[in-house]
Amino acid sequence: MKALVKTAGGVGNFAVLDVPEPSPEPDQLKLEVKVGAICGTDIHIHDDEYANCPPMVLGHEMSGVVVEVGKRVTQFKVGERVTSEAFKYTCGRCRFCHDGLIGLCIDRQSMGVHVDGAFAKYVCQREESLHRLPDNIDFEAGSMSEPTAVAVRAIWERATISPGDVVLVSGPGPVGLLCLQAAKTRGATVVLVGTEGDEHRLALGKDLGADVVINTPTDSLDTILDRTNGLGADVAIECGGSRTSLAQCIRFTRKAAQLVVVGLPGREIAVDLDQAIVKELTILPSFTYCHATWERALKLLGEGAIKTAPLVSRRFPLTEWKAAFDTVRSRQGIKCLLLPVD
Ligand SMILES: [Zn+2]
Ligand SMILES: [Zn+2]
Repeated sequence: MKALVKTAGGVGNFAVLDVPEPSPEPDQLKLEVKVGAICGTDIHIHDDEYANCPPMVLGHEMSGVVVEVGKRVTQFKVGERVTSEAFKYTCGRCRFCHDGLIGLCIDRQSMGVHVDGAFAKYVCQREESLHRLPDNIDFEAGSMSEPTAVAVRAIWERATISPGDVVLVSGPGPVGLLCLQAAKTRGATVVLVGTEGDEHRLALGKDLGADVVINTPTDSLDTILDRTNGLGADVAIECGGSRTSLAQCIRFTRKAAQLVVVGLPGREIAVDLDQAIVKELTILPSFTYCHATWERALKLLGEGAIKTAPLVSRRFPLTEWKAAFDTVRSRQGIKCLLLPVD
């Protein structure tokens, strides 16, 4: 089968190769991939900014159909439509697994990062990482359930947001636009902030429910102060992964606010920690999700409270992965999908 493979460490080293079809272990299922979605993490892996274990098939955002089940699988049947967590292995024994924090497992292995992923015709995945797609979630939306779960984790499980809170979402990329929608499901007033080149993404954010959008080269962030009696936002969600974005979040939140950090910079960045300390900010890094996060994510997707279709910019056959990655990098595209090829 054809698969997009990271062939070796370092920058680049991506290629579409013919690789053997995987066959499931007793506790695994073989899935025919219907849609894969490109994530910022894939770009970081390309640029050697996120630890990974080549050679491996890339891709951790996917939807598909069960085509074969291992002997010990009990919960799924051939023909069912599914989506998957990125985790292909967590130990179940470490203190983090015991606390349900599977994303923090000391022995976690994720698809497309440590082991073979879903940018291929088929992928094998363990049963406990799979979630059935209800009829009201199509394969494209299903392929974006993973970043939706990331947003739901940040907004529903890490932040504490009450109706009427002013939430600053900084960085209108795919996860920012999903966080914006998740924050609206909590009754927040959402201020979405982007920068030069984000015009299209900010306009989409407005359509998706942002109460205020701020484009920093031209618009003033003081609008946030005007809306909050000069105090600053109650909660900031940092999704840009840049020093400027993080600095804005620290500066334009009120004292004793929550700062949820979702965006990965991919390198060391400087932070004005003094300002965070004297404001007594509660800093809440948010990484991946728990099993239970997915139930809420799929419910919100199914109800249409979180929409993914407007985020889809283009679909590419797997063989055109380079054009797809370039589109994501240009920030003109929001979410690009990769479709398996024979
Ligand atoms: Zn992802
Ligand atoms: Zn563990």
